Amino acid sequence: LTSGLESAWNKLKGEEVLTKENIVEPMRDIRRALLEADVSLPVVRRFVQAVSEQAVGVGVIRGVKPDQQLVKIVSDELVKLMGGEVSELTFAKSGPTVILLAGLQGVGKTTVSAKLAVYLKKQGKSCMLIAGDVYRPAAIDQLVILGKQVDVPVYTAGTDVKPAEIARQGLQEAKKKNVDVVIMDTAGRLQIDKTMMDELKDVKRTLNPTEVLLVVDAMTGQEAAALVTTFNLEIGITGAILTKLDGDSRGGAALSVKEVSGKPIKLVGRGERMEDLEPFYPDRMAGRILGMGDVLSFVEKAQEVMKQEDAEDLQQKIMSAKFDFNDFLKQTRAVAQMGSMSRVLGMIPGMGKVTPAQIREAEKSLQIMEAMIEVMTPEEREKPELLAESPARRKRIAQESGKTEQQVSQLVAQLFQMRVRMKNLMGVMQGGSVPALSN
Ligand code: GDP
Ligand code: MG
Repeated sequence: LTSGLESAWNKLKGEEVLTKENIVEPMRDIRRALLEADVSLPVVRRFVQAVSEQAVGVGVIRGVKPDQQLVKIVSDELVKLMGGEVSELTFAKSGPTVILLAGLQGVGKTTVSAKLAVYLKKQGKSCMLIAGDVYRPAAIDQLVILGKQVDVPVYTAGTDVKPAEIARQGLQEAKKKNVDVVIMDTAGRLQIDKTMMDELKDVKRTLNPTEVLLVVDAMTGQEAAALVTTFNLEIGITGAILTKLDGDSRGGAALSVKEVSGKPIKLVGRGERMEDLEPFYPDRMAGRILGMGDVLSFVEKAQEVMKQEDAEDLQQKIMSAKFDFNDFLKQTRAVAQMGSMSRVLGMIPGMGKVTPAQIREAEKSLQIMEAMIEVMTPEEREKPELLAESPARRKRIAQESGKTEQQVSQLVAQLFQMRVRMKNLMGVMQGGSVPALSN
């Protein structure tokens, strides 16, 4: 998924702004990458639609390249797709909180039971496990062993008792012991069948659980979303736990569960150790999928800087071609504010090969520009035309800043070029040719 998206960003290299036209190709890549990651087609369609709409309307943030902007939009949409916020476990107001675990065979239910107990114990809650998989004696032993390992009591009633009856007895025991959270492990099948569903319904009726969590295996891709949907329709669940994320090269399962089923992923398992269970953070997941945490924080910072300054005022200036040296200075400083030049360059995807020498070069040229602008009079800063018209002024600036006249001329030319470029970006095409400097 990450590498598929990479080619989308690459197609925007050299562009000035996101347009309806130049996002067509990148959006095709994003679409393909999502489909390859096993996200279902209707979800992909809605996603691509939402991203395209936003991309065309974002406008320009100084210092941020279109590919970076698109990364940010895609990330925001991914987060939204996955439910936005962390979805916390619910706890009962009185009496024990009951968590019922369901899921197909081998997805990690029994492991999750013990992991969940470890997770909750860390929050200061006392736990008890109920062994509800009556089909294999080994399954009960497995839970008992895990219970010992994590130091949590396990209620067992052998394999001859119906799961709903085990549930009733276990809950009674938990109430007697004043346990905070009861976690019931159940039997899975290779596929959904009626016996399993009926059994789960019985258990659910008996326990009246606070949480019914479907455990799904991340390796199954969009099948995970389909399972969550089916279980929710059949028995009613409160959320999902996505396991084996450590072995999941495809992010598809995490991406579509919420969108398809309406139920959130609450927790994820990413390893075989008992500590490997954690809340599901949509934003972290998006960052991991995109592999571009740096770009995201960079764009966020740029948006901040943009907000702080009077963006409207700047736009006015650009529209009326009043962009002057003060703005020029502000803009270069805004970029500097986002971190040193080297950091900024390092964050730009595909710029990984910038040499330290090139970075020093860029930093130096920023300093040179600043030095020249600093010795300008307020009038000169506001009316760059004065400098374009007067070689004498340029000479003075060169002398006072210790730069060459040629460097001053270059700076003045650069400012006018910037005006033109910005006017073009704003769609105001008339006027704005670069004036020739008079000698
Ligand atoms: P159940 O049939 O649903 O109860 O599944 P189990 O809890 O017995 O787990 C089946 C296998 O998956 C075991 O070998 C577990 O160690 C393994 N497993 C469970 N969760 C994870 C996980 O998050 N990551 C990895 N790598 N393995 C897991
Ligand atoms: Mg099991």
